Amino acid sequence: MIEAVRLRDLQGRVLELGVEDGRWTGHPTAPPLDATRLWAVPGLVDAHAHLAADRLDLRPGDPTEIAGRAFAALEGGVFLCVDKGWCDRSVLSLLRHPPTERPDLQAAGRMIAVPGGYYEGFAVEVDVDTLTEVVADEAGNAAGWVKLVGDWPRRGRGPVANFDEDALRMAVEVAHRAGARVAIHTMAPEVPSMAVRAGVDSIEHGLFLTDEDLSRLGARGGAWVPTIRRVEELVQVLGADSSGGRLLSEGLSRISDLLPQAVQTGVAVLAGSDLTFPSARIGEEVAALREYGLEPADALAAATTRAYRYLGVAAGFEPGLPADLVGFEVHPWEDPTAPPALVIRRGRILSG
Ligand SMILES: [Zn+2]
Repeated sequence: MIEAVRLRDLQGRVLELGVEDGRWTGHPTAPPLDATRLWAVPGLVDAHAHLAADRLDLRPGDPTEIAGRAFAALEGGVFLCVDKGWCDRSVLSLLRHPPTERPDLQAAGRMIAVPGGYYEGFAVEVDVDTLTEVVADEAGNAAGWVKLVGDWPRRGRGPVANFDEDALRMAVEVAHRAGARVAIHTMAPEVPSMAVRAGVDSIEHGLFLTDEDLSRLGARGGAWVPTIRRVEELVQVLGADSSGGRLLSEGLSRISDLLPQAVQTGVAVLAGSDLTFPSARIGEEVAALREYGLEPADALAAATTRAYRYLGVAAGFEPGLPADLVGFEVHPWEDPTAPPALVIRRGRILSG
């Protein structure tokens, strides 16, 4: 446990804070740990994680493995994860562990699709009659999120929408009534527009969002988690010349225009790992957001300030807030991919 720290934030301000019961206090009463050689943030955020697996490994999650992945995320400075669902609710087992052993967690439970609308047997499959009941059940048994699979390729037909706009609107209503937000997986044209009009909170992948969607989503402070590295990986897996690969490449070519516009219109553009790399390496997605048109500070905010704000989690170097600190030798606006040199969680040094 540390009792006080002298730190330097990303703007170069030097601050001195005490630590009491895992929280910052304004008055250091002990000689501070000097961390001013580093650039400090209060934590990193992975807004599209799947802690039940390392790769796209379609089996039920194992609570011991999940706890291991969660601790690895923490050691990498990722202090908040939004788990975007699995075939079961195994990730919720993390909530039994104290925050010194895992990131803060928001999570969907089981993903919701329709027959033929996802990897076979992996999501809960609904029809028009069971959708609202299943959404209510998931919303009531998860940690703040419901995850819908919005579209999925069918053999010989390309991607097909799993739900119509009315069904999406109904799902959103039911989830919101239960206090949960809704995230939707979409990689196809038109479905993002339907989802935005229907009031879905967070668009996952969303390569085919339009200008109008962004204005609408931004006006109500909605989120977009493009998971660029995941999509690039999928293009590789499918083959750049396959119909799926061509569609996703077309989608990727659109987003350099969309990303800066999204940030400007108030969309919460967030960084997500989505099984392409472990949560601890979320800086890889920050680098991708830069490659695709965001300014360094805007890209980093996708895994720091903007993410905390959108997710409603208070983080910062202020008295009363959790004594969390992630320090980097190189300013993360210069290189967002470098691992942290110092990680402090609730006043305890985890590494460095
Ligand atoms: Zn995902």
